[in-house]
Amino acid sequence: MLCPNNDRLTGLLTRDSFHERARNITAGGLAVVWFNLDNFKMFNKRFGFERGDDILKEIALILGSTFSQDSLNLLARFSDDNFVVLTDWATVEMNIDTVQEYLYSLHENVTLRLRAGIYFPSENDDIRSSCDRAKLACDSIRKNHSVSSCMFHDGMSRELALQQYILDTLDTAILREYISVLYQPIVRLSTGRICEAEALARWNDPEAGIISPGEFIPTLEQYREIHKLDVYAMKLVCRDYRTRNELGLPILPVSVNLSRLDFELCDIIREIETAVKACKIPRRMMRIEITESVNEEDTTVLNLGIEKFRAMGYEVWMDDFGSGYSSLNVLKDYNFDTIKFDMKFLHGFDINKSEKAKYIISSNLEMARLMGMQALAEGVETDEQLEYLKSIGFDKAQGYYFGKPMRLDEIFLLERGIDAVK
Ligand code: C2E
Ligand code: MG
Ligand code: MG
Repeated sequence: MLCPNNDRLTGLLTRDSFHERARNITAGGLAVVWFNLDNFKMFNKRFGFERGDDILKEIALILGSTFSQDSLNLLARFSDDNFVVLTDWATVEMNIDTVQEYLYSLHENVTLRLRAGIYFPSENDDIRSSCDRAKLACDSIRKNHSVSSCMFHDGMSRELALQQYILDTLDTAILREYISVLYQPIVRLSTGRICEAEALARWNDPEAGIISPGEFIPTLEQYREIHKLDVYAMKLVCRDYRTRNELGLPILPVSVNLSRLDFELCDIIREIETAVKACKIPRRMMRIEITESVNEEDTTVLNLGIEKFRAMGYEVWMDDFGSGYSSLNVLKDYNFDTIKFDMKFLHGFDINKSEKAKYIISSNLEMARLMGMQALAEGVETDEQLEYLKSIGFDKAQGYYFGKPMRLDEIFLLERGIDAVK
C-alpha cells in the first residue's frame, strides 16, 4: 500500500512530502528540475484520460530509472503533468536528455515534448523558491519549440520579483485606486458612430510605475487572484456610469473583461449583480467579455455561467477569437452574442496578397452569421483594414484607428459621435 506521502497515480512523492524531505537536504551541488509535458490537456482530449494517466505513469518510471543512481535524488509529481526532481547538478543535463529521448522513442507517432527547467540552488535558497525558479525556466520555453530544456537566469528573477510585487500589492492597489479603468470606443460600421466601449484595467503604481495588463493579468490568473481585479474593475465601471447618470449626461453600453477563472473563484454573477444594482444600471447596458481556451477540459461551470448571464439580460461576448487560445471548436460548446476577432487573426493575413486569407476571414464571418452572432474586429489601425472589414460585412470594429483606451468622458467628445442608446 502507498503511504500518503506518495502520489496515488505514479507512486512518486507528493508536493508536500517533497518539500518536507528536501528541507533536510543541505548539501551543495544540487539541481532542481521542473518537468512539464506540452499539450497534456489536448492529449487527454484526443486520446482519453486513461491514456493520459498511462503517460504520467510512464514518465514517473522513466524519471525513476534515470535518476535512481544517487541517494540524494528526490522525485515528485506536484500536480497534473508537473514533475519535480532534486538531483546532482553534475549529471543533470545528461539525465534530462536521457529522459526526453527515452519518452520520445516510445511515442514516435505523437509529438510528446517533456520540457525541463533547471535551477541550481545556492545555500541560502529555500526549496519552494528553488522550485518556483525551475518552473519559471520551464514556462519560459513553452512557446519556443526549438529547445526542450532551459536554465533559470536573472532576467527571469526580475519577472518573478514583479510577479511577487503584483501579488503582494494587489489589495493595496485596489484600496488606494492605483488601478483604474480606461474605455476604448467600439464603432458600428454601418453608421460609423460609437456604439459601445470596452473597459480595460490600468495599473499605475507609485513604486513600480505603470504595470501593463500583459504582466498583471497572467500573474493574477496564475495565482488565482484575478477575480479580485475583475470585481473591482466592474465596480469602477458602475461608479463611472452612475456619476454620468446622476449628472444627466449621455451614457453608452460598456463591456467588461472577465476571466473564466472568475466563475470558479467567486460567485461572479452575484458580485456583478450587486454592483450593477447598487448603481441602477440596466443589464442590457453591460456586456461580458470572456476568452475561452480550446484546451479547457471542463466546460460545464463556464457554460452555466454564460447561460445564466444571458438569461438575465446581459450580452456575453467571446473575446480574442482566433488568437490561438480560442477558435472554432469553442463555438460549438458555448452560446455567445458577439464574437470579437482577435487582432492577430486579422493582422496575420495579408489580404492584398492572398485570396486564401480572404476566404478564411470571410468564411469565419459567415459562420458567425449562421450561428446568429454579431462579429466585431479588434485592432483596426488603418483605412485599408477598415475598408476591407466593411466590404465583407463586419458589424463592429475597435482599434487605435478609432481611438486608444481613454477616460469615459473623453469618448463623448470624439467627433464621430455616439449611437443613440435605446
Ligand atoms: P483584450 O480584451 O483583447 O483588449 C484589447 C487589447 O488590445 C487592449 O490592450 C487594447 O489596448 C489593445 N488594442 C486595442 N486596439 C489596438 C490596436 O489598434 N492596435 C494594438 N496594437 N492594440 C490595440 P490592454 O489594455 O493592454 O489589455 C490587454 C488584455 O488584458 C486585454 O485584451 C484583456 O484580455 C486583458 N484585460 C484588460 N483589462 C482586464 C480586466 O479588467 N480583467 C481581465 N480579466 N482582463 C483584462
Ligand atoms: Mg476584451
Ligand atoms: Mg480581445
